[in-house]
Amino acid sequence: MNIILLGPPGAGKGTQARFLVEERGMVQLSTGDMLRAAKDSGTEMGLIVADVMARGALVTDEIVIGLIREQLETVKANGFIFDGFPRTLAQADALNDLLAEKGESLDGVIELEVDDEVLVERIVGRAAEAAAAGQPVRADDNADAMKIRLMEYYKKTSPLIGYYYAKGQLTKIDGLGEIADVKAAISKTLGG
Ligand code: ADP
Repeated sequence: MNIILLGPPGAGKGTQARFLVEERGMVQLSTGDMLRAAKDSGTEMGLIVADVMARGALVTDEIVIGLIREQLETVKANGFIFDGFPRTLAQADALNDLLAEKGESLDGVIELEVDDEVLVERIVGRAAEAAAAGQPVRADDNADAMKIRLMEYYKKTSPLIGYYYAKGQLTKIDGLGEIADVKAAISKTLGG
């Protein structure tokens, strides 16, 4: 089973993806994690994307599609969870093609719905907690970058909601509930 977790920054996609990994043996493909790893290891691509990410803007389709292609060609999995990908219609088309090349398809898209004020609070709170605990803080977890991340989401990513709805693949889940309730709602959608 291959699914997409869709939703604005701070909606809880990563948290829920981890549950699916633990409980269903699926593999999480987070383009955000891959890009941060490239940045941290200082690869040429990592250096190119670092500024773009810190601002909260989207990196190019070409780069993220390349990252996903590489994973789909090499990783064997009992289903993939796409987290933070696709973020544009071009990425969505590329994902369809990449899955078709493997003889696979997309089984569903789960949209985590949350309101914007909660998102900003969550992200700025997450950064403050990390800082107080002496942990690294993401360069884009601040109010300025968050504003750009939200604008990018509404301009470029939210059209995917209508697109997958029209294809009959979208399920909306309230992302404002307790983590355990969101988790239960996702399980129910995926068939227990
Ligand atoms: P969040 O969902 O919390 O914003 P991510 O970890 O998914 O965080 O992404 C962090 C940043 O990485 C994005 O703001 C963007 O710069 C870049 N990024 C991640 N995935 C993509 C993608 N699919 N397309 C373009 N840029 C991406």
